[in-house]
Amino acid sequence: MITVKRFLSRTMDENCYVVEEKDRVTIIDPGWGVSSEFFPLVGNKQVRVLLTHGHADHIFDLDKIISDEIVIHELDRNMLIDPEKSLLNIFGKEALLIEEAKIRTTEILDGLWKCFHTPGHTEGSCCFLYDEKLLFSGDTVFSNSIGRTDLPGGNKIEMERSIQQLRRLFYELPNLRVLPGHGPEATAQDILRENPFFR
Ligand SMILES: [Zn+2]
Ligand SMILES: [Zn+2]
Repeated sequence: MITVKRFLSRTMDENCYVVEEKDRVTIIDPGWGVSSEFFPLVGNKQVRVLLTHGHADHIFDLDKIISDEIVIHELDRNMLIDPEKSLLNIFGKEALLIEEAKIRTTEILDGLWKCFHTPGHTEGSCCFLYDEKLLFSGDTVFSNSIGRTDLPGGNKIEMERSIQQLRRLFYELPNLRVLPGHGPEATAQDILRENPFFR
């Protein structure tokens, strides 16, 4: 059994999630101020960070975490290096002090984890599926809305395609818990019924 915990980054109202597996802790989107809260969960376990995309509100605390690897889509990788691309500079952070060797750009994850490349909010936006039960949807899908496409790297057409891809997944897995980057979680069937972008 695994556990999933949500940590709210109050400054930017962003959800960070921590999934505890037997030998590993997976941290999804460590936003501003959350890292100290989940420190006790880590222990001696391996630590992996999965990033749904490279925006400042999802990566702010990345350099406060001692991790073994950081996974981000290759199309968003430059956002970890360039604070203007991630908009970190707007929040007064001029650089993320991370070891570039730890960054892994891949869509292939191990075990029960799967990555779906869902561009539209940013070029490299991804959703991460765990065991066909949990979907970490970043800023691509919220319970009642979808992510904006008007920021640099955003693309409305690609977003529509990504939504189509997720709609198929939601029909296949109606009980899926969708855990977004902002706001409350919802099940796939709730989203199909209530989210105006999926109806
Ligand atoms: Zn974003
Ligand atoms: Zn966000």
